Amino acid sequence: SEDQSLVESEKPKETFQDVGGLEDVKKKIRMNFILPLQQPEIFAAYGKEAGGSLLLFGPPGCGKTFLARAVAGEIDANFLHIELQAILSMYVGQSEHNLHDIFQKARENKPCVIFIDELDAMGGNRHQMRQHHDRMLVNQLLLELDGLQAENDQVFVIGATNTPWYLDPALRRPGRFNHLIFVPPPEEAERELILKLKLAGKPAEDLSLGRLASDTKLFSGADLEQVVKDAVESAMERTFESGKIEPITNNDLKKAAKNRKATTLEW
Ligand code: ATP
Repeated sequence: SEDQSLVESEKPKETFQDVGGLEDVKKKIRMNFILPLQQPEIFAAYGKEAGGSLLLFGPPGCGKTFLARAVAGEIDANFLHIELQAILSMYVGQSEHNLHDIFQKARENKPCVIFIDELDAMGGNRHQMRQHHDRMLVNQLLLELDGLQAENDQVFVIGATNTPWYLDPALRRPGRFNHLIFVPPPEEAERELILKLKLAGKPAEDLSLGRLASDTKLFSGADLEQVVKDAVESAMERTFESGKIEPITNNDLKKAAKNRKATTLEW
């Protein structure tokens, strides 16, 4: 089918262990997605069905995509990442067709997690010319979601948006994206955890990550990842000069943090 190059199916290795903090979010996802799959009889006893769709929202870089991949990793599922902007830019008619193909592909590769990024791109606030086109794509997505709901079929859909208030209300009805989960910026303890995860296994002096965590208010997980990358670069520069592996220092990290801005501020 035509979507081959559009969306590749992959099997993420990340699990919840790789996601620093967000314990409430993980708990909610476990309850609604993972446990029903692992222990369907308990959910059946209460008349609850597995599957359904989840909507993650929050500032950029705080782990929505990462979490969605980790959900697939947790249940050993395939992962299909749909970038809505890419689909929307196609010819009228073609995008609906492609969306359908992707859902079809998910059915052939179950268990499967479909991740739809930038869901708000389907909302209003757009050029008139595009609105009819958008409407058709929203309708197609609703059709696909309702179809899955009827099949109860080990295909899970996770949507993500930075701006849930722009979302088409039809997408929020029962059986569609009715689980709305906020993925907040990491708090101090979570920032420390994320830093620790990103530094794990790398040569470093005795680091005061607690201090760094308190100095990086409003940094997203992505910002912290970047801080670590910059610090690694400094240590590597020294290594190339000295000819022996140089540890990452507190100063490397401090400098890197100073040169980066907290991006969740702009949200
Ligand atoms: P956007 O809204 O811009 O798509 P997002 O919320 O989907 O952003 P991700 O792409 O998941 O953000 O995060 C970017 C990177 O930041 C991830 O690849 C991951 O390495 C890191 N990251 C973010 N949050 C965490 C976290 N809680 N634990 C570990 N790493 C994280």
